[in-house]
Amino acid sequence: MSGPDLVLILRYRKAVTYGFHVLLGALEGHETTTRYDVRFGETPEATAAHIRDALAAGAKVLVLWSFYSPDAAALAQELGRIRELADGPSVLHVAGGVHATAEPVQTLDAGWDVAAIGEGETTLLALVDAGGDPAGIHGLAYRDADGTLVRTGKARQRPLDDFAGFSLRWDRFNALEITRGCVYACRFCQTPFMFSARFRHRSIGNVRWHVDRMRERGLRDVRFITPTALSYGSQTEEPNLAAVEELLASCREGIGPHGRVFFGSFPSEIRPEHVSREALRLVKRYCANTNIIVGAQSGSDRVLDAAKRGHGTEEVRRAVRLGVEEGFRINVDMIFGMPGEGTDDVQASLTLARDLADLGARIHAHTFMPLPGTPWRDAPPGDVDPATITEVDRLSQRGALYGHWQKQRDHAARLAAAAEAYPRPGRSRTILPTLPLGE
Ligand code: SF4
Repeated sequence: MSGPDLVLILRYRKAVTYGFHVLLGALEGHETTTRYDVRFGETPEATAAHIRDALAAGAKVLVLWSFYSPDAAALAQELGRIRELADGPSVLHVAGGVHATAEPVQTLDAGWDVAAIGEGETTLLALVDAGGDPAGIHGLAYRDADGTLVRTGKARQRPLDDFAGFSLRWDRFNALEITRGCVYACRFCQTPFMFSARFRHRSIGNVRWHVDRMRERGLRDVRFITPTALSYGSQTEEPNLAAVEELLASCREGIGPHGRVFFGSFPSEIRPEHVSREALRLVKRYCANTNIIVGAQSGSDRVLDAAKRGHGTEEVRRAVRLGVEEGFRINVDMIFGMPGEGTDDVQASLTLARDLADLGARIHAHTFMPLPGTPWRDAPPGDVDPATITEVDRLSQRGALYGHWQKQRDHAARLAAAAEAYPRPGRSRTILPTLPLGE
């Protein structure tokens, strides 16, 4: 029997396995006349070896990449190394994910052949049907033979139930995405831009199908991916606790007496104003997690308003108090160095962090990064002054603070430089610091 016409090689990195599993889930449910194989490139060298093997077998090769904006520069270097090790005219490197969606021209200039714009499932299936030829396929940007930029629009969005959320065929599992998109519009966040400004929920029956398959495979822990856990089943800013309870009860039953369900903890979080005794008791009744993650982001109401978070600091204090009273360990996400943040705002954030730590919460500290696709893409990079660092260090020595906030300062500076090199029409960074907060 002859070999495949097309080989899909995933540049399979730990940080982005979930995105690939979702694509594999879509692929395994898709009928096509193209004969294709899938390979997992777990290192640059392994990826290059897969490319060489596929070329030797006469197949066309799509190398699929997915990455977040802070990793784009390092992966562009890696792409160069892989090309040195293995390359050819029938090899296309395709970048997907939020960075490629927000900055397709940057992505092509950095060395990828094709940028996939928006949700990847329908685009990948069309690419496979076309034997790997991107011409005319929706949801792509690439340069034609003359070097002219071709954009074919954003990929079609389909209901979550249309595709499996992980891959049975390739035995790749992950936290299950129960909601995609977000009705909130926090100015630092890529989620509403990447997906949609509305919630698309996986139905309870479809979630249960996944949980049943997990149990059959001997998997015992059910975790969820969602922008805001207590928004499950809702189309508004109000939680729908009846839907949440139905979801949790079904998962609890499906995973069986030896299984565990986690909700409102890693890798998802809860908005502070959604925290209520009733909600926490649902988590206690059905779930195994003893901690929850609450998104606070700032201790300054002024900054929260400017970021369009839709809640204030009082809701954060209330959420932590309630959580502690109900017996949960609380992790609170905070971002330092947000645009327009003045000394008073920083002091307010430090005061909140100290107060919450005194209540027993742990602060997960981040540095503001001007992320592509967000309204604050052109904002100055987040920085944290030495006095703040000292205080933050003191909290971390107490075990009350953790996170990669120092590394994120470097990412922020690099993203800001890239934004400056690729200005958006009509935008200039120089005007941003003088904009009043709240605009
Ligand atoms: S930060 Fe959370 S609530 Fe805000 S837009 Fe992003 S996903 Fe939605």
